[in-house]
Amino acid sequence: MNDATAGETIYDELGVSPVINATGTKTRIGGSRIRSEAVAAMRRASRSFVRLSDLQAEASSRIAAATGAEAGYVTSGASAGLALAAAATLAGRDVDRMDRLPDTTGIPDEIIMARTHRTGYDHAFRAVGATIVDVGTNDRRLGTGATNVEPWEIEAAISEKTAAIGYVQKPYTQPSLETVTDVAADHDVPVIVDAAAELPPAENLSTFVDEGADLVVFSGGKAIRGPQTTGIVAGRAELIESIALQHLDMHAAAGVWSPPSALVDVDRLDGVPRQGIGRSMKVGKEELVGLIVALESFLEEDHAERVRVWREHADYLATELSTVTGLETEVTAGHDVSVAPAVVVRVNPDVARSSATDVVRSLRAERPRVFVGADRLDEDIFTIDPCCLEAIEIDYLLERIRAHTARRS
Ligand SMILES: *Cc1c(COP(=O)(O)O)cnc(C)c1O
Repeated sequence: MNDATAGETIYDELGVSPVINATGTKTRIGGSRIRSEAVAAMRRASRSFVRLSDLQAEASSRIAAATGAEAGYVTSGASAGLALAAAATLAGRDVDRMDRLPDTTGIPDEIIMARTHRTGYDHAFRAVGATIVDVGTNDRRLGTGATNVEPWEIEAAISEKTAAIGYVQKPYTQPSLETVTDVAADHDVPVIVDAAAELPPAENLSTFVDEGADLVVFSGGKAIRGPQTTGIVAGRAELIESIALQHLDMHAAAGVWSPPSALVDVDRLDGVPRQGIGRSMKVGKEELVGLIVALESFLEEDHAERVRVWREHADYLATELSTVTGLETEVTAGHDVSVAPAVVVRVNPDVARSSATDVVRSLRAERPRVFVGADRLDEDIFTIDPCCLEAIEIDYLLERIRAHTARRS
């Protein structure tokens, strides 16, 4: 037993059911377990004051070292990182534009995306004033053609109204990032990459920068295991500067305004920007420090060993559940749709006691709530992602799934 299975969490004390997380780093159930060294660092950070721009400048140089990018910035999550990245491509160094966003009258405001890259998260682009122009088809998915989007379609959509190209990075996204950055470079258009969940492998911190992305966004609250409310943007110094100017608290008297030169080149600005569109996406000193420390730990971690343990847990769960009548299991390799290996559990509705939907619903209604993956219920499948499970929770999970699936004799 651990805190959750023993009913001893802070959530129990507050009268709220805790969750056994068998579905991976999902924000709605709390993301990941923040590293203890990050929590300790946040506690220390809370004891004294610091100029946030100084702390962001230090984070920038560390993110640059970790990613190979010119600069970096800590945001309040990957989604906020996408919003700030878009704001940077809309406003650049123009203080007036920064002040006007999300009003983009007279400003190039189109972000071009392949239609198959559209996700709920691109609301972040639209929130700061961008208009998404999506191109291509969904032919591959539908089986009606060989490709979804051709490089020429992206190129044809570029005009004087274009602010950026948006790209969602997954191991299987098409066209390749390099194809897109080549087209973009020909027209001097920045490429924003959403790589929120693409860690580990740690090498991915630099891969997309190497492939020509201008800004790459990662979540700090997923595999990095920093504070839930953090994200990282890595990329070109000039765009990171625009992010800083639109994010930092800005009601400073011009005479004493001296942000760190590593982050902001005051001489190239028309004045002190007002509170920008990013001001409502505040990052506190504690979160900033927590993310910096978590990133260092992530870089030092033995990722192969972590994946090996996930795989071991997945294999064990799959073997045990395959003995239940009406359940068939399979373990997918990591890097299919998620970085961790997953157990795919197919419920045969003719033989099993309840449907996949009923199993998922019953597990979620327990105390503690048990969350398994529910993205494939239409196929009578639920999934188990081992990456947020403690070893001590595995048998509890098995017992609860059996309780809802095993036939009573
Ligand atoms: C998780 C995720 C996000 C949002 O990340 P947060 O850090 O929770 O804001 C954005 N895009 C993709 C593809 C994600 O998986």
